[in-house]
Amino acid sequence: MTDPVHGADVIVVGGGVVGTAVFHELAARGVRVTLVERDRVGLGTTAWSGGIVRCHHDDPVLSDRAVAGWRYFRRFAEHTGEPATFHTSGFLYLPAPDRAADATAEAARLGATTSVTWLEAEEVTKRFGHLLAGPAGHGAVWEPESGWLDPMEVTRGFLRAGRSRGGTVLEGVAVHSLTRSGDGRITGVRTGAGAVRADRVVLATGAATAHLLTSWGLAHDLWAQAVQVELYRPEAPVPDQPAYTDDEFDVNGRPDPGSGGVYVGHPTHHRLPPPPGREQLDAAQSRLAAAAGARRWGWLPGSRHLGGLRAAECWAPDGRARVAAHPDAPALLLATGFNGGGFKMAPWAAAEIARLAGPA
Ligand SMILES: Cc1cc2nc3c(=O)[nH]c(=O)nc-3n(C[C@H](O)[C@H](O)[C@H](O)COP(=O)(O)OP(=O)(O)OC[C@H]3O[C@@H](n4cnc5c(N)ncnc54)[C@H](O)[C@@H]3O)c2cc1C
Repeated sequence: MTDPVHGADVIVVGGGVVGTAVFHELAARGVRVTLVERDRVGLGTTAWSGGIVRCHHDDPVLSDRAVAGWRYFRRFAEHTGEPATFHTSGFLYLPAPDRAADATAEAARLGATTSVTWLEAEEVTKRFGHLLAGPAGHGAVWEPESGWLDPMEVTRGFLRAGRSRGGTVLEGVAVHSLTRSGDGRITGVRTGAGAVRADRVVLATGAATAHLLTSWGLAHDLWAQAVQVELYRPEAPVPDQPAYTDDEFDVNGRPDPGSGGVYVGHPTHHRLPPPPGREQLDAAQSRLAAAAGARRWGWLPGSRHLGGLRAAECWAPDGRARVAAHPDAPALLLATGFNGGGFKMAPWAAAEIARLAGPA
C-alpha cells in the first residue's frame, strides 16, 4: 500500500467510549479527525463496563469531572443527535466511617448545583432498610438523578454522530508506531494499512496504553489492572435497588433490569502483565466479592450467581487520569488512566482533549 494512506488534523487511536467521545467532540468542532481502531469500535473494556454515571467522589476534582459527564449523559441525544437511554436508578454512596464527615461536606458542595444530597442514617434505613444486611450507621450520599447507560449504545452513538459531522473511521486497523520528522516531531502513526499523517495523535487506547508507550520508548507511570463485577439474581425481586459504591465494605454495582439481577464489584488489585489480553472471571475474586457484598446487602445470601464481567483497565497512581499532552512529545495527547471510572468521565475527557487539540 502507498504511504501515507490518509491525512487528518487529529488521529484518535482507540474506539472505546473515551476515543469515540473525543472523535465526536472534535468532529463537532470542525476538526478533520480520523479514528483508528484495531478491532471493531466499542469492543474493548467499554463493552464490559457497568456504565454507571454518578457525581460524588472523595476527590472534588473527580466530582467536578463526573458532574460534567453526568450533565452530558442526561442530555446525550441533545449533544449528539443519537438516542441513548439514561436509566435513572439513583446512586447511593456509603462512606467508610472515617470519611463520613468529608462525604457530608462534598455532598453539600455538590448539592448547590445538582440534586446530590446527604441522608442521615435514619433516613437511609427508612428508604433502603429492606435491602440492607445491617444498620447504615454513618449516613450516605444520595443522588436521585444518577444511574447508568448501556456503554455499547453510547459508543455506537458517539461513532455515528462523529461520522455524520465529517469524521473518518478506520476499523480493523492497528496502530504500530508513531511517525516522526527528521527533527523528531510527531507526524502521525504507522498502521497495519500504512501511515496516517496528522498534526496531533490522541492515545485513547485504554489498558493497552502502558504497553504501547513502553514499546515506543516514552516514559509513563501507567499499568493495566483487572476490574471484575459479579451478577447476582436475588431469590425475590429487590425493589428500589440503586446503583451504589460502598467504601465501608468495598463493594459497588448497579441493578440490571434485563436479568433481574444486581452487579456486585469488589476491587481486584490484580495488576496485569503487558500486553493485556482478554480476561476471564477469577473464581477467588468472585468469592471475595460475595463475602463483601453480603456484609452490605441482605438479599445477597441465597441469590443466584449469574457469572459476571471482567476486563483490563488503565490505571494511574493518583487516580486522576492522564488527559494531557505527553511531557516528552507535545503532539501526543493521552486520554486514559481512569482507574475503573472512565465511562462517566468520557465527556469531560473529550472536552479537555478538544481544548488541547483543536479550535474552540
Ligand atoms: C467490569 C467493569 C465495570 C466498569 N464499570 C464502570 C462504571 O459503572 N462506570 C464507569 O464510569 N466506568 C466503569 N468502568 C471503567 C470504564 O469501563 C473504562 O474506564 C472505560 O470503558 C475505558 O474506556 P477506553 O475508551 O479508555 O478503553 P477501551 O474501551 O478499552 O478502548 C480502547 C480501545 O483502543 C483499542 N486499541 C488498543 N490498542 C490499539 C492500537 N494499537 N491500535 C488501534 N486501536 C487500539 C482497543 O481495541 C480498544 O477498543 C468499568 C470497567 C470494567 C472492566
